Amino acid sequence: MRATHDERNPYLLLTPGPLTTTSTVKEAMLKDWCTWDDDYKHVVQSIRQQLLQIGHVSDDVYTSVLMQGSGTFTVESVIGTVIPNDGKLLVLVNGVYGARIAEISERLGIETIRFEQDETEPIDLEAFERHLQVHKDLTHVAVVHCETTTGMLNPLQEISKLVKAHDKTLIVDAMSSFGGIPIHVPDLQADYLISSANKCIQGVPGFGFVLARREALKQCKGQARSLSLDLYDQWEVMEHQSGKWRFTSPTHTVRAFQVALEELEAEGGVTKRYERYTANQRTLVHGMRTLGFSPVLEDDWQSPFITSYYYPEHEEFTFEAFYSRLKEKGFVIYPGKVTNIQSFRIGTIGNIDKEDVHALLSAIEASMYWTDERIEIESRI
Ligand SMILES: *Cc1c(COP(=O)(O)O)cnc(C)c1O
Repeated sequence: MRATHDERNPYLLLTPGPLTTTSTVKEAMLKDWCTWDDDYKHVVQSIRQQLLQIGHVSDDVYTSVLMQGSGTFTVESVIGTVIPNDGKLLVLVNGVYGARIAEISERLGIETIRFEQDETEPIDLEAFERHLQVHKDLTHVAVVHCETTTGMLNPLQEISKLVKAHDKTLIVDAMSSFGGIPIHVPDLQADYLISSANKCIQGVPGFGFVLARREALKQCKGQARSLSLDLYDQWEVMEHQSGKWRFTSPTHTVRAFQVALEELEAEGGVTKRYERYTANQRTLVHGMRTLGFSPVLEDDWQSPFITSYYYPEHEEFTFEAFYSRLKEKGFVIYPGKVTNIQSFRIGTIGNIDKEDVHALLSAIEASMYWTDERIEIESRI
């Protein structure tokens, strides 16, 4: 479905979420729902089932839980619920989202080891394994799949092999990848996999969700360090009361998400969506290179979701001015987050296709004067 600008949506969001959604997803929010009524609970139950299908898991081995809030709230609910008081967590940190998991864990008073890696280089799997060997008392390992800081895709399958060889519980933050790239959860042997409504499934913000291995989650009763973020209690109510949430749920967002799931299916599922995102990203990087911009990451470990670019080496370049010009032309990009590198990011997920990317590239080309002097603009035209 081609994204179009209109007076209510004057610009496309080329960001890692919230992102550009279809008008049908937005229209789905025009109905008011009663949070404990059967009609609404059916919506919740059908979403929970579809999420299991996307992860290729069966309902008897895995379950899914939805949690109010932005994605971080769901991450916090997992970390705060599934790690017991005498547990110890190893976190892969190669960007701000890995660092955020470690910070959540430390705040909750959980013993935490950070496995810190360069943000722009692939992770050192041998060093990772040494951490698993040295810290014998580790119980859980948390990793981010796509580190949205840079756009790096971490080698989930290899990481999971090592984690499982050492018999640890695996928690995956697949926030910016789930639904946008095939993920076979049983192959990964992930115990908990986390994502949210407003990323690759192309819903609107308001809740996150967890695919959880039943046997693992069942052991977490009474363990949560928070009432509202108790993943076990949330699951128990949802599971045993046919899709009921414990507290007020984001009803409009949930219904919009159901439509987003239907649209994912209509597009041909995750594989087709992955192909579209990949085509978007390749078209963009190729065009950006032609315009003289360099991506921060090597192509080999770059994800199709978001790409970081170095600032152009021109003393007149400011991100703020560049951003404003692009926004005026109908495109919103994202500031960078890589430590020690001056960069900006462009997302290639959401309801956008290659034509939108070509339009963006034209807008970028027309915004590539690093000064406000009209003279210079005119000399370029
Ligand atoms: C978006 C994202 C999150 C959650 O961020 P929120 O702003 O809380 O929604 C967590 N991890 C990753 C990798 C993300 O991309």
